[in-house]
Amino acid sequence: MKFAKRRAVLSSLVSGAVLASLSLAAPLAHASKDHPEIGFCIDDLRVERWSRDRDYFVAAAEKLGAKVSVQSADASEERQVSQIENLISRGVDVIVIVPFNSKALGNVIAEAKKAGIKVVSYDRLILDADVDAYISFDNEKVGEMQAQGVYNVQPKGNYFLLGGAPTDNNAKMLRAGQLKVLQPAIDKGDIKVVGQQWVPEWSASTALRIAEDALTANNNKIDAIVASNDGTAGGAIQALAAQHMAGKVPVSGQDADLAAVKRLVAGTQTMTVYKPLKLIAGEAAKLSVALAKGEKPNFNAQYDNGKKKVDTVLLQPTLLTKANVDIVVKDGFYTQAQLASQ
Ligand code: BGC
Repeated sequence: MKFAKRRAVLSSLVSGAVLASLSLAAPLAHASKDHPEIGFCIDDLRVERWSRDRDYFVAAAEKLGAKVSVQSADASEERQVSQIENLISRGVDVIVIVPFNSKALGNVIAEAKKAGIKVVSYDRLILDADVDAYISFDNEKVGEMQAQGVYNVQPKGNYFLLGGAPTDNNAKMLRAGQLKVLQPAIDKGDIKVVGQQWVPEWSASTALRIAEDALTANNNKIDAIVASNDGTAGGAIQALAAQHMAGKVPVSGQDADLAAVKRLVAGTQTMTVYKPLKLIAGEAAKLSVALAKGEKPNFNAQYDNGKKKVDTVLLQPTLLTKANVDIVVKDGFYTQAQLASQ
C-alpha cells in the first residue's frame, strides 16, 4: 500500500492528535492471534460453487476463533486489487484469495507481505507472487478425469475442447490433464480436435455461443465436447439441445453443480467431478489460522508459481457419473429432495 493511502485510511479512523503520535511506518495493529482476522477475496460469488466455499470457510474459521471478512470481485481485476488493498489497510492477519487474474496480483501481494500479512492462494494458483501457501484439488487430475470420462463413451471422432477462463491458471492445468489422456488417440488419428476455445470468465452464455458456432462451423459433426466445468458444460449442452443432440454427444464438467448432477441423471451430461467443498474450505481455514499463529501447517505438495515453490495442500477429486451419483447425497452435498426437485 502506498504511504499516502495508508495515511488516508488511518486518518479516517483516528483523530489527528492520535495520528500525530503514531508512527506511520509501523504495521497496523493485528488482531489477537487467538482471534485472527482473515480476509477472503473471492473472484466471483455469482458462480454457484464459490458461495458454498464461502459458507463452509466462514463457518470453519469462526469455529477456530477467527473473524472473516468476505469480498467478491465479480470478475473484475481492479475490484479485486482494491479489495485486497483495503484489507491490508485494515490490518488483517491473513488474506485468502481466489484470484480472478492469476497474473495480476504480484504487486498487491508484495504490499501485503510488507505489512506482515500471510497470503493463501485458494483453489487457483496465483502466479509470480510471494504467496505463503496454496490449497486446491489436483486440477491436472480433474482434467484427466474430464477427458477420460468423455473418451470412455466416445473413443473416436471429432472433439471440441471448451477451456476455462484464460485468466485462470486452473484452465491451463485442466487442459494439460485433458491432453495427457487424449494425445495418444489424437496422434493415432482416432480423435480429431476440430476446435478449441477458452471461455472468458467461465461464462455459461459465452460457452453456449461458442458451442453454437462450433456446431455450425462443423455442420453439427461434433462427437464429443470436453468442457472444463459444469457452468460451461451447461452452455454447451443447451447448444446441443437446440440441434436435438443433447445426450448423444458426451460432455464433461466439474463441480457437481446441482443442475449438472441433474443432467447426469437425465443423461445429457456424461460426467462431472465432485470436489467436496467442505473439505477444501475447512482445510483452508485451518491453514489460515495456523499461518496467523506462526505455526507450520502440514503440506503435501509444492507448485512452482514462477516466483517460488509454493507449499501446497493438494486434495483429491472424485469422478462422478450417473452410476455413482449417490455419493453426493451420502456425503451431504445435496439432499435426495434437491436432486429430485424440478
Ligand atoms: C475452479 C472450478 C470453477 C471455475 C469457475 C476454477 O478455477 O477450479 O471449480 O468451476 O474456476 O469458477
